[in-house]
Amino acid sequence: MKSKYDVLIVGGGPAGALAGRTAAEKGLSALIVEKRPAIGAPVRCAEGIGKEALHEFIDPDPRWISADMTGAAIVAPDGFVMRLDSAMAGGKVGYVLDRKIFDRELVWKASEAGADVAVKSRAAAPIMENGAVKGAKIEFAGKTTDVKADVVIAADGVESKFSKWCGIDTTIPVREIMSSVQYVMTDIDIDEHATIFYMGNDVAPEGYLWVFPKGKRSANVGIGISGKKSGDGHRAKDYLDKFVKKTFPDGKTIEYIPGGVSVCRPLDCTVADGLMITGDAARVVDPLTGGGIYNAMYTGRLAGEVAAECIEKGDVSKKALMKYDRAWRESKMGKGIERNYHIKEYLIKQPDTKLNDIIHSVSKIDMQDFSTITLIKEIIKANPKLVLELGALAASLR
Ligand SMILES: Cc1cc2nc3c(=O)[nH]c(=O)nc-3n(C[C@H](O)[C@H](O)[C@H](O)COP(=O)(O)OP(=O)(O)OC[C@H]3O[C@@H](n4cnc5c(N)ncnc54)[C@H](O)[C@@H]3O)c2cc1C
Repeated sequence: MKSKYDVLIVGGGPAGALAGRTAAEKGLSALIVEKRPAIGAPVRCAEGIGKEALHEFIDPDPRWISADMTGAAIVAPDGFVMRLDSAMAGGKVGYVLDRKIFDRELVWKASEAGADVAVKSRAAAPIMENGAVKGAKIEFAGKTTDVKADVVIAADGVESKFSKWCGIDTTIPVREIMSSVQYVMTDIDIDEHATIFYMGNDVAPEGYLWVFPKGKRSANVGIGISGKKSGDGHRAKDYLDKFVKKTFPDGKTIEYIPGGVSVCRPLDCTVADGLMITGDAARVVDPLTGGGIYNAMYTGRLAGEVAAECIEKGDVSKKALMKYDRAWRESKMGKGIERNYHIKEYLIKQPDTKLNDIIHSVSKIDMQDFSTITLIKEIIKANPKLVLELGALAASLR
């Protein structure tokens, strides 16, 4: 670890790895600090990602793909199953990753590009000069070292503290933090090539429950419910246990993963003087699905690119770094977050009867693909009254 870098990246998840890799590929000196002793562990994720989304960043490798998905199913509150098969998506559905290996591969690629990596190294405080971020104090093996940088990229995940220490409000309203629990289960009867989503206020209030296959008889079985619905006897774990007891009574749980997912709008501003905020730390998770791997990689790469441009021009002020903030908001990803935020807000208010109606009506349609956007368009088509309820948003999708 040197005492000065062009770019210092806090966090070695997908956002940090892509930021580090991109900065290094652009010829900058870059350091990724990760507070955990190992990259990728423990995993706090259901590990699902769309094939096309993943291919934008890395070629698939069987070493970190646990399962290849050719279908999906949504189970309505009344038990009706709506199936979506690969014919609708030209065989391009999704993967369930093995993030312990995947995250390492991403960081490995960053280090191959020239970035330094330090594990068990925690950014404990920013170094501030005249209101600008100029680096961070890094704790490693009981010692604290000052590491200076022209730009610090905060990629420290949903529990992010770094930007808060720099004076940015990163608070997530309780109702917009999904309380999640996941079991890695084995010895269970599943369709090894289909992801299954269960909906309903008795199953997962203001959220959903998922079964994502990890191989022949193993799966990530998890749930996310609104933080505001979580309480005594009604915690995410209680709902999950009820489901598991009924659906996989003989299954064995080999991993227990608690976690939180933000389903709020992104931060109002994701840059400050000398600082850029990426991935979950920027709250760019898809509010409808809770998926954030792609968005983390997308914002990480973009932050690396804009940091390189600004450092080259010798201007890392908030004004100059705003190029990053504007670019991701105007991107397909940024617009998708805004759209899906409205849809999530609509869906969580619906009673089970309405959710049943929506799922039943959509199942009768011959869909050409089953991307989230197509599904939403079809839901609106099948439920014309929704146009009134969703207002301008619905009109923009037609
Ligand atoms: C239960 C659950 C299921 C999910 N399922 C999916 C899914 O199926 N598909 C999907 O796309 N997304 C899913 N997500 C979301 C996904 O895991 C995140 O969006 C993604 O990991 C975000 O990447 P990131 O790099 O921003 O943050 P992270 O992957 O969280 O990485 C942040 C890193 O920063 C490190 N760090 C934090 N503070 C410091 C510090 N001070 N100093 C140094 N290092 C620090 C952390 O240790 C961590 O390794 C799920 C999340 C949960 C909780």
